[in-house]
Amino acid sequence: MANFNLDEISLLNPADPYNRERETFPTFTNEQLKRVSAYGTLENFKVGDILYTRGQRDIDFFVIVKGVIEVTDGTEHRLATLTTNQFTGELTLFNDRTSLATLRICEDSQLIRIQRKKFRRLLTGESELAEMITRAFILRRTAFINHDLAAAMVVGHSKTSDVLRMQQFLRRNGIPVKMVYVESDQKKVIELLDKCSQRLSDLPLVIYGHDQVLKNPSNSELGCALGFTEDVDCEKIYDVVIVGAGPAGLSSAVYAASEGLHTLVIDSFAPGGQAGSSSKIENYMGFPAGISGQALAARAQIQSQKFGARISVPRSAVKLDCDSLPIKLVLENQSVVKSRSLIVATGARYRKLAIENLEKFEGIGIHYAATATEAALCTNEDIAIVGGGNSAGQAAMYLSQRTSHVHLIVRSSSLRKTMSEYLVRRIESSTQITVHLQTEITGLSGDRYLEFVRWKSKDGSEETHAISNMFLMLGAVPNTEWLKECLALDEKGFVVCDQPQSLFETSKRGIYAIGDVRSGSIKRVASAVGEGSVVISAVQSYLSHQPTFAEKNSSVRTSGHPDNIPSIRPTKNSI
Ligand SMILES: Cc1cc2nc3c(=O)[nH]c(=O)nc-3n(C[C@H](O)[C@H](O)[C@H](O)COP(=O)(O)OP(=O)(O)OC[C@H]3O[C@@H](n4cnc5c(N)ncnc54)[C@H](O)[C@@H]3O)c2cc1C
Repeated sequence: MANFNLDEISLLNPADPYNRERETFPTFTNEQLKRVSAYGTLENFKVGDILYTRGQRDIDFFVIVKGVIEVTDGTEHRLATLTTNQFTGELTLFNDRTSLATLRICEDSQLIRIQRKKFRRLLTGESELAEMITRAFILRRTAFINHDLAAAMVVGHSKTSDVLRMQQFLRRNGIPVKMVYVESDQKKVIELLDKCSQRLSDLPLVIYGHDQVLKNPSNSELGCALGFTEDVDCEKIYDVVIVGAGPAGLSSAVYAASEGLHTLVIDSFAPGGQAGSSSKIENYMGFPAGISGQALAARAQIQSQKFGARISVPRSAVKLDCDSLPIKLVLENQSVVKSRSLIVATGARYRKLAIENLEKFEGIGIHYAATATEAALCTNEDIAIVGGGNSAGQAAMYLSQRTSHVHLIVRSSSLRKTMSEYLVRRIESSTQITVHLQTEITGLSGDRYLEFVRWKSKDGSEETHAISNMFLMLGAVPNTEWLKECLALDEKGFVVCDQPQSLFETSKRGIYAIGDVRSGSIKRVASAVGEGSVVISAVQSYLSHQPTFAEKNSSVRTSGHPDNIPSIRPTKNSI
């Protein structure tokens, strides 16, 4: 049975994944071992052999028939010991990321080696074992994160934008990270700087591997250095490339990959999209106690990768050549990805105010939605709503019945310029709402939470109000700059989809748009997820009239519509 280094780990915490030792390090029965052995080959290892090292990619899956393996973090620090009928690995078996652990043979051992391709077959062919393995992998990764077994250390001043950016980027990508701040741990910072021969002026730094150092790296540099940016195969022609890994993109990846389509997902930041920044989604079916957007995204990511989807982050799409077949997608590093079909799932970003402290209070006082969840946070309090459109008006009406008073902050000189008449009348007749025309927010302050909001009116006078919840209803901007020369967009820049063969097909055949980026979409997690699943049947139907991989050299056309091509089923993945 696996055991852990108890110096590091508190067994008293019931939420501690190490407390679920039997699930984190399960032991196959002899019958299960026999089933597993059908997918691999027996190999003998000698004491002292290294199975793989931290930082290595493309590692195989091993099951111990006889012997002992020690798991370390790449130093002498032992994390676990695996013995007979137990298996190696964690989430990196589902993708091409580098290993976080080094595995050393502790006594002469006999192992079943299952190569990655066969491992995928095992997952699809043996659902009971797949569940056991997937759960163990998730718990092992959670353990890495919860126990500071960091892949990287970010050293710098707290509350500085680059330190926050790196922390957010690594956390949103599920990379265990340890933060060391000058303000709270000066001794440790000096010790680290000394060790890496750096100076205080070099901060912020990222320290990883064997004392390797990056000075204020970009997200892209960070992803490459830590080995979690997967290479995109530019030679391959994918069945479907999905741009954007928010709820819509991840959902379509799950359905596409599970239908056997060669699927690539790219995202410029991290899986999860806007939902990833929500601390709790309470209206998504099946989670009565709510679920954080990040947890939901992590599950979807693993699920799609289990079926064989490739997810590459951080990668931005900058241009689409949609008149060619296969479709060509240009990434920010100028590499070109080829695909037989493409799904645009790049979502939208809510308009923000250019004001100090906004990010500090996002989610803890600054809101972009006015649902019952947010309303419950401000019962019997004064609140501020910023915006003069219908969404601001609806939010004002709704929240005025649940809060003590609503201050509606509007930049223009009349609500009638931007809001429907019926809403204007209701707002004007409400005693619960005060409209501040030609007024702008000038300050946000508070210690841990938003406490005060300051605004300036047209006569130049400023006033400060004790307000802990402010709603920004300034509209959403679609992430479609990269599509402008290619697809029909509506007046606000959202992708127009009105083709008879599919609700989600754009002005170009074989290119689809789903989720918040689609013109007329309902901006919700559930609808994005639903569209992600539905679109795949349209993609499959389209692909069934397209040349397959095997034919690409002989019959791929360079332009035109595919309607006259004879029906050929899409190839199945090798998994
Ligand atoms: C704070 C917050 C809380 C919310 N709470 C709820 C809630 O409780 N319930 C609910 O139903 N809805 C909620 N929503 C709305 C919900 O999150 C969105 O409707 C949903 O995320 C839309 O999903 P999507 O996949 O269409 O787009 P997005 O979530 O916007 O994802 C788009 C993805 O595309 C990527 N991308 C953008 N441009 C490019 C490019 N050029 N190249 C590559 N990648 C790119 C982005 O990085 C992003 O990951 C909330 C939104 C926010 C902001």
